[in-house]
Amino acid sequence: MNLHHTSAYPSAVSLADFRRNLARVRDNIAAACQRAGRDPADVRLLPVSKTVDEARIRLAYAAGCRELGENKVQEAHAKWEAMADLPDLRWAVIGHLQTNKAKLVARFASEFQALDSLRVAEALDRRLQAEGRALDVYVQINTSGEASKFGLAPQDAAAFVRQLPAYASLRVRGLMTLALFSPDPALVRPCFVRLRELRDRLRQEAPAGIYLGQLSMGMSGDYELAIEEGATTVRVGQAIFGARALPDSHYWPGFATSGAQP
Ligand SMILES: *Cc1c(COP(=O)(O)O)cnc(C)c1O
Repeated sequence: MNLHHTSAYPSAVSLADFRRNLARVRDNIAAACQRAGRDPADVRLLPVSKTVDEARIRLAYAAGCRELGENKVQEAHAKWEAMADLPDLRWAVIGHLQTNKAKLVARFASEFQALDSLRVAEALDRRLQAEGRALDVYVQINTSGEASKFGLAPQDAAAFVRQLPAYASLRVRGLMTLALFSPDPALVRPCFVRLRELRDRLRQEAPAGIYLGQLSMGMSGDYELAIEEGATTVRVGQAIFGARALPDSHYWPGFATSGAQP
């Protein structure tokens, strides 16, 4: 396994590259499922296309990708508009959202994975009602305790979830997290365990209509670990598309100074 060594990911620039990278990731998913005694059909691969341009995204589509994760709303919305000729391509917003961008998300996204405030829930619900749409959402949990990470503290999750039935357009699917960025599995794995155990607890006391089964956890460097610990969605960018030119601090404010990068 290759925890966060981005140079190991060559850029995919042809259909053959995408087919090969997708096959490799799916093989790794199957192997991790085998180790954990799980059915690979229970793990969804969400390719993450942030920073990737339209031409390469179209190659990924040709290679079979029908849903894509994007960290930034404006970037996602622009791509959705540019690729409106691909109506079966679904867009998941997986990064932090400000209330003033809720309107955009409500318009085009099929899924929002970074819900961590009631203000955002309220803004999204209002905009979704106006659009006549519903949205799958995941509650983001900060399982690493790093100040630079978004998400609710685990101990605040139960009270938060109890408020969610008020927002009828939000279809709550489960929990999402980013693990500690570290090359050491002994530090990464506990983040995934924490999310699973929190899900198991919350499920017992979830309000009617709130479904908390899904666990979105694991990225290029750690998705195999995440699957061993119960991930039902893995969000994989670089292992499919290749290493990103932009530093991760562009997507995770405070990341570069957190000292967690190996
Ligand atoms: C970028 C991103 C990923 C994917 O990271 P890779 O290292 O490219 O696999 C997963 N989740 C979120 C929230 C991201 O922003």
